[in-house]
Amino acid sequence: MSDVRSLDAFRKAKQKAKAAGNTLCKSGRHKWQAAKDTVFDSKQGKLVTREVCARCGKTRVKGT
Ligand SMILES: [Zn+2]
Repeated sequence: MSDVRSLDAFRKAKQKAKAAGNTLCKSGRHKWQAAKDTVFDSKQGKLVTREVCARCGKTRVKGT
C-alpha cells in the first residue's frame, strides 16, 4: 500500500504549505495583489484601488 501512503504524505505536505501561508496572513503579512476592478468610495467621493490577498482572499482598499 505504498501508493496510499505517498498520497497521504502529499496531502499532508499540501496542508502544511497552506498552513504556512495562513500563518503569514495571521501575522499581517498578506500577499497583496492589485485587483483588476476599482471601486467607487462614496464616502470619499473618489475611485480607490482594491487589493486582494492571493493566499487568504482578504481585501483591502488602497489610498485611504
Ligand atoms: Zn492573506
